[in-house]
Amino acid sequence: MRAAAKKGRNEMSEKINVSEIFGENVFNDKVMAERLPKKVYKELRKTIDEGKGLDPMIAEVVANAMKDWAIEKGATHYTHWFQPLTGTTAEKHDSFIQAPNPDGTTIMEFSGKELIKGEPDASSFPSGGLRATFEARGYTAWDCTSPAFVREDAAGATLCIPTAFCSYTGEALDKKTPLLRSMEAINKQSLRLLRLFGNTTSKKVTPSVGPEQEYFLVDREKYLKRKDLIFTGRTLFGAMPPKGQEMEDHYFGSIRERIAAYMKDVNKELWKLGVTAKTQHNEVAPAQHELAPIYAEANIAVDHNQIVMEVLKKVAGRHGLTCLLHEKPFAGVNGSGKHNNWSLTTDDGINLLDPGKKPHENIRFLLVLTAILKAVDVHADLLRESAADAGNDHRLGANEAPPAIISVFLGEQLQDVLNQLIETGEATRSKKGGRLETGVSTLPSLSKDATDRNRTSPFAFTGNKFEFRMVGSSDSVAGSNIILNTIVAEAFCDICDELEAAGEENFETAVHDLIKRNATEHQRIVFNGNGYSDEWVAEAERRGLPHLRTMVDTIPCITEEKAVKVFEKFGVYTRAELESRAEILYEAYSKALNIEARTMMDMAGKQIIPAIIKYTTVLADSINSVKSAVSDADTSVQEELLAEVSDYLADTKTALSKLTDQVAEAVKKQEGKERAVYFKEVIKASMDELRAPVDKLEMIVDKEMWPMPSYGDLIFEV
Ligand code: ADP
Ligand code: MG
Repeated sequence: MRAAAKKGRNEMSEKINVSEIFGENVFNDKVMAERLPKKVYKELRKTIDEGKGLDPMIAEVVANAMKDWAIEKGATHYTHWFQPLTGTTAEKHDSFIQAPNPDGTTIMEFSGKELIKGEPDASSFPSGGLRATFEARGYTAWDCTSPAFVREDAAGATLCIPTAFCSYTGEALDKKTPLLRSMEAINKQSLRLLRLFGNTTSKKVTPSVGPEQEYFLVDREKYLKRKDLIFTGRTLFGAMPPKGQEMEDHYFGSIRERIAAYMKDVNKELWKLGVTAKTQHNEVAPAQHELAPIYAEANIAVDHNQIVMEVLKKVAGRHGLTCLLHEKPFAGVNGSGKHNNWSLTTDDGINLLDPGKKPHENIRFLLVLTAILKAVDVHADLLRESAADAGNDHRLGANEAPPAIISVFLGEQLQDVLNQLIETGEATRSKKGGRLETGVSTLPSLSKDATDRNRTSPFAFTGNKFEFRMVGSSDSVAGSNIILNTIVAEAFCDICDELEAAGEENFETAVHDLIKRNATEHQRIVFNGNGYSDEWVAEAERRGLPHLRTMVDTIPCITEEKAVKVFEKFGVYTRAELESRAEILYEAYSKALNIEARTMMDMAGKQIIPAIIKYTTVLADSINSVKSAVSDADTSVQEELLAEVSDYLADTKTALSKLTDQVAEAVKKQEGKERAVYFKEVIKASMDELRAPVDKLEMIVDKEMWPMPSYGDLIFEV
């Protein structure tokens, strides 16, 4: 006990020198510059910065330097770290050890070939038939734009090499490959646009992404007593505690010591891995927290977000906690999401989503903004799909997270400018800005501070970036950024086609017309009101905006002609890749619900019903013994309780039998869409039917006899 307290104090007093530890486990630019011969370093930079192909000789030298560096950090193994279509990351570890020398010693080797290419046993990763169609094996390929890192854990230290995962014929079996492709597409189209505006200096445009990560922390001991949390990440039963989040006293509340110690540890781990963990605070729900990094290039941000999720989970164990990344761990309590902040930045520091100070910049900004309106309106379904997973179905549209309908929030000032453009074709005044000018080439200056906030919007403009708030907390942010990059690339491409055709002499008029047209034709996607209201659902329907309520409803859109056309045009996905993805998504949904239903059956049958039977026996025994002591004693309370509990018990058993039968039927449904629809429409309803009487029982059965910790125990006692 004393030792533990002392250890705790030591940890607390441990000073972290951020600038010393930041990136210490990353094979970053500084390390590369120090350790690689100048020529090799230059070549590698060219590959990283300009996408030039990599010479195998160079890879050989880099691999060797990387190995020496990693071994100095204590690494014994290396792994190709990749993001298959399962939602998490995958890896296969190989040690650096080579076959022993005749004298019994060995050397540590790592070749260029091993760095560049790996062949994991791919058969256990979902491929939606792609591997079967094309080539049985998959391979991983080094993504040199995302730096390698050394990860320390109980297994020692491992050199992790970020990679893409493809089939032999090049079909993407992961999330990284299409992300990189979409980044190329948006780069190309953005540069085209910049050139039309006379920019000759920017060499590259990258999407900047800052994902804010929400999560729950619960006590590990209690977590281990809940099979639903263990198997599914969310509670499948549970009555609401007397106190919910109605007091809102948790949000930005002071962070408790146990949590503070955890966050300190998390930050330290992340900083060592070069992740710019920046802000941390409590969230709306009790036991809910948030971590946000400083934004980075999309592919790095996606990798880093995966690392953040891994570290959040790993470090929790050390503190006797468990981190829940599920979108809705507790029914009736705020869920967790991931705000995906997105903008477009040039290598020389221009943010295309920054209104800017000069009219010239403003006009480009309005062109970009209205192009994004078009992209989001035309492909609202794809954007919605990118945030869909089985867990997020419990969150989106559930009156607290953003609604399941995509709309764009612009704020009062921008809306006013757009209204003027739509009505008169000119914007001559700005609500909060001072300058008034007329003419085609000048628009009022917009100030960033004038953009107001709207927490209910799924896609909000926040000064110099868009914030896509639909993504689920456990999901990879790759998906939503692939869509954003691709659909905006298409809108930019359309603009550029038109402007190039108009010629230099008509440029200004053409720009003006485009802004007006896109603002007018796509104004239905803009909504500045309360996204949680029922009126909005009705209004959105009137406007013809898609309302895709569940993950299963969103899947068909990815294989529609409109989607195939845009993805193929910009080389992001082939039709075959899209079809395989749809198959994988249906399967993932069915699997998730199957596990949930089975877990409910297990808990109800083996824990809940037996506990209730014990309780009814106690009640019956109590009635008998009271009566035998005092024959006319009043046992009406026990009797009423016994009757009530017995009724709910019967309901529970009936619901359990029904669910059991229905789950058994599931395998008879055709794999893919049919089975997923069955789970969504039949099984889900029966799961609710089973939950209802059990949650009622939890409120009346002796707490001592209830077989698992309650919501109150889990949420308020961390
Ligand atoms: P909020 O008010 O929503 O907390 P912040 O300004 O704190 O907004 O930023 C939230 C996230 O957005 C952070 O990860 C931040 O780095 C990121 N972010 C800020 N500016 C940009 C930008 N231009 N592009 C992309 N992400 C950005
Ligand atoms: Mg935010």
